[in-house]
Amino acid sequence: MSKSEENGAETSKPENFIETIIKQDLAEGRVSKVVTRFPPEPNGYLHIGHAKSICLNFGLAETFGGECNLRFDDTNPAKEDQEYVDAIKEDVRWLGFQWAGDVRYASSYFDQFYEWALHLIKEGNAYVCDLTAEQASEYRGWATSPGKDSPYRSRTPEENLAQFEKMRAGEFDEGHCVLRAKIDMASSNMNLRDPILYRIRKASHHQTGDKWCIYPAYDFAHGQEDAIEGVSHSVCTLEFADHRPLYEWFLEHLPVPATPRQYEFGRLNINYTVTSKRKLKQLVDDKVVAGWNDPRMPTISGMRRRGYSATAVRNFCQSLAVAKTDGVVDMAQLEFFIREDLNEHAPRAMCVLNPVKLLISNFEQHIDSDVQTLAAPVHPSKEEMGSRSLPFTKELYIDRADFTEDTTLSRKKFKRLVAGEYVRLRSAYVIKADDVIKDADGNIETIVASLVPNTVGDNPPDGIKPRGVIHWVSATHGKQASVRLYERLFVHEAPDRGEEDFMQHINPNSLKVLDNCWVEPGLADAAPEAAFQFEREGYFVADRYDHQPAKPVFNMTIGLRASK
Ligand code: ATP
Ligand code: MG
Repeated sequence: MSKSEENGAETSKPENFIETIIKQDLAEGRVSKVVTRFPPEPNGYLHIGHAKSICLNFGLAETFGGECNLRFDDTNPAKEDQEYVDAIKEDVRWLGFQWAGDVRYASSYFDQFYEWALHLIKEGNAYVCDLTAEQASEYRGWATSPGKDSPYRSRTPEENLAQFEKMRAGEFDEGHCVLRAKIDMASSNMNLRDPILYRIRKASHHQTGDKWCIYPAYDFAHGQEDAIEGVSHSVCTLEFADHRPLYEWFLEHLPVPATPRQYEFGRLNINYTVTSKRKLKQLVDDKVVAGWNDPRMPTISGMRRRGYSATAVRNFCQSLAVAKTDGVVDMAQLEFFIREDLNEHAPRAMCVLNPVKLLISNFEQHIDSDVQTLAAPVHPSKEEMGSRSLPFTKELYIDRADFTEDTTLSRKKFKRLVAGEYVRLRSAYVIKADDVIKDADGNIETIVASLVPNTVGDNPPDGIKPRGVIHWVSATHGKQASVRLYERLFVHEAPDRGEEDFMQHINPNSLKVLDNCWVEPGLADAAPEAAFQFEREGYFVADRYDHQPAKPVFNMTIGLRASK
């Protein structure tokens, strides 16, 4: 039984067009082993769009018993960095995928690419062109009108070999010349109008150091990388559809060891955010966010730090259509999977975000020691998750928003504590608000309350009707914590699809830090990245980097309900 047959949820999903193609290829013997690859350029951190591509490529390999390579498309040293290489590896692993063998680098094939460039030159299929960038673009023509041949197009193979060798030896400055394929300056496909194969770039490369001063263009590298690695199905996003004829041209004109095929699918876009490394980098560089892994970022590391689980991100990606059109997905669809996963797995806990003191005036009368240890379930519907201890003490904190002196509010409208009335403290006693103590400015400092005895886990006597249930934390045994609340990073639904610069749509209130929150004592010992449902507030996660027992720090992951 295949993996997908074991899993009911997956079987019910119709197969996507790439799976259909692969099935046919296998059935008809065109392909004997499915090999895919995920080929990020290490010029930024991975984002949710990449997660879709990762799930698709690794998923196809898994479904068809094949392999998926992780290959860094590192042909542009100017924008790439080892930091990104490391982060990308970590993100792919975190998502739950393991690439076949070692990580691959396009740069480790540079010698081979060079050989193949010589091959094209010798066959009269490539030439060194000395046009300036402006001239070249003029010669290229427009989509509606043909280009014209470069005057250097008629150089002989010998002349081209000599020039190319000089390019390689560093004898020319950057931009002095390029190596181009000799295809067709009148092609209706602009990509075939003698595309650039090699550029001079006098930059140090994160893998090859100073070995090279010429670097292959993406198009001259990608298909050949696939061929070298024996990739059977090279899956990329739609913008490469126009490059496919070129991809095939190189495979046809070079002595490559295999002929992979390229297939394109629609990019993932999500509303209220941007998924482009360049734009995400701008947010980092301009310090709009605290880094690539800021919890507000749609990066994999940002989502991780926000408290999204890898399972939830994968479930979301699997819910997406693999189509031949680009689409925009509603953020609510992602949030659905985040919430579904957390509701199922997150332990419950109490945290008071905006504390006001509540004093139990009759504490000593009913409780023998300074503290009564109460028990509460870790998860309301999962007994196997056990119970947690809650110290109940004379001084507690409740949330300011859970108390009002306005006695005119109906029971339906305000199901919390009202002066002179009753409320249940979650997993503890029913209490009554008897009095308030205010400071000189009239702000409430303390609510004086009395507990109704024998009400832990039991109904109060007739005539006592609590308005609702509120959460609380012991003021003497609880721990002070810092909590970060997040809103969307952009206020605009399509921040980068309008006339204005996307940076103009930044939400100025996307982060709010509350430094005087109070959590159950047990939460101080939470492991970094542990997720919780703070009852009545939402889902939160112990910050991966900043959370410490002595100084707990939690990030809000998401609210309890979709309504917002
Ligand atoms: P960006 O525009 O963010 O820089 P990119 O396509 O240049 O993205 P690469 O590192 O080249 O980034 O992408 C690696 C792989 O991820 C490619 O196969 C690419 O098609 C895929 N990918 C990138 N963005 C998306 C997206 N939004 N949805 C689906 N796949 C994507
Ligand atoms: Mg790219």
